[in-house]
Amino acid sequence: MSITTNITEVKALLPDTVTLVAVSKTKPIEMLQEAYNAGVRIFGENKVQEMCQKQEILPKDIEWHMIGHLQSNKVKYIAPFVSLIHSVDSLKLLNTINKESIKNNRQIDVLLQIHIAEEESKFGLTPSELTTLLQSEQFHTMENIRIVGLMGMATNTADTSKLELEFKELKSFFNETKRTFFPNNDYFGTLSMGMSSDFQQAIACGSTMVRIGSTIFGRRN
Ligand SMILES: *Cc1c(COP(=O)(O)O)cnc(C)c1O
Repeated sequence: MSITTNITEVKALLPDTVTLVAVSKTKPIEMLQEAYNAGVRIFGENKVQEMCQKQEILPKDIEWHMIGHLQSNKVKYIAPFVSLIHSVDSLKLLNTINKESIKNNRQIDVLLQIHIAEEESKFGLTPSELTTLLQSEQFHTMENIRIVGLMGMATNTADTSKLELEFKELKSFFNETKRTFFPNNDYFGTLSMGMSSDFQQAIACGSTMVRIGSTIFGRRN
């Protein structure tokens, strides 16, 4: 199986309303270049240093998405070029991104990561933490970030009814957040959910953005 073939097969399963993020973490430049040649323009990485190295080498029309847990002290390295940060899970991090956006004279789009999985280890805000963040005074002073939606990771399970429950919960929470905090706002519209093992189910539950790694690039070590 080639990367190009894998991309064609994945794309055939995605409705036009769903954006593909090709998750290229740990994979070498040549593989990203092959995906680029097959038409992919959005790559997802989870490590700051690796993303910066790849960004320097690869074509400049690529949109780089940070999908992994991000430390505030590393935001400065990606702030000049990152196009979407999926994994914002605190007001402190949001504030740092805002400051770095100002320094770079730009606005950075972010998603707030919501904890939906059973596992303790997965990052993200609880619904009540999200509400507190969006109601805070500090949030309303941040003019160089734009919250364009939510992101979530489901429990790592083959239990499809459990996956469905988690994805539906996130979707309804997304709708509620939009209604309450972003009414009449056309940029809050991204719901990033679904990876290689569960993206079709995520799409059935309302995902608008899927993050797919191993199905495109093969297994990681
Ligand atoms: C690695 C990763 C993915 C992609 O996982 P695959 O199972 O390889 O598709 C998606 N989202 C996040 C946050 C990841 O860290």
